[in-house]
Amino acid sequence: MAIQRTLSIIKPDAVSKNCIGKIISRFEDNGLSVVASRFHKLSTCEAESFYSVHKERSFFRDLINFMISGPVFIQVLEGENAVQINRNIMGDTDPKKAKKGTIRADFADSIDANAVHGSDSEENAKNEIAFFFSEMEIHSHKL
Ligand code: ADP
Ligand code: MG
Repeated sequence: MAIQRTLSIIKPDAVSKNCIGKIISRFEDNGLSVVASRFHKLSTCEAESFYSVHKERSFFRDLINFMISGPVFIQVLEGENAVQINRNIMGDTDPKKAKKGTIRADFADSIDANAVHGSDSEENAKNEIAFFFSEMEIHSHKL
């Protein structure tokens, strides 16, 4: 399996619960490396654009309001099979359905405040990474 990159966002709920470090440890303990990162407070426009695939969904407005409610911690993760590995570590969108030991089971309170975003395909990962980071801001560091 090839080395991939994926986009991870630690959402406002997990940032405000002071869980950034604990969540990043989950990535690192599972073979993923943080190769770019930034604290950011999304504007309404940025959040709407990032989540535009969901714009017709009933939860869209709640999702946008939640994502702009506080700062987020955005990272590019790199490693073998990074897109799927990250999805596995994150757990189900609904924390009530997420397997024990996943980030959402352990840190999320609800389907709205569910701690993390992760790209769901290699193609979406490329687009989502380019949304937030230029190639110059991404630094692979494994020997
Ligand atoms: P994921 O984040 O697991 O990829 P989706 O891409 O389907 O999930 O949805 C994006 C985000 O929208 C979810 O992480 C969650 O915060 C929110 N969301 C999804 N489905 C619902 C729902 N049924 N009710 C409320 N919020 C939802
Ligand atoms: Mg998604």
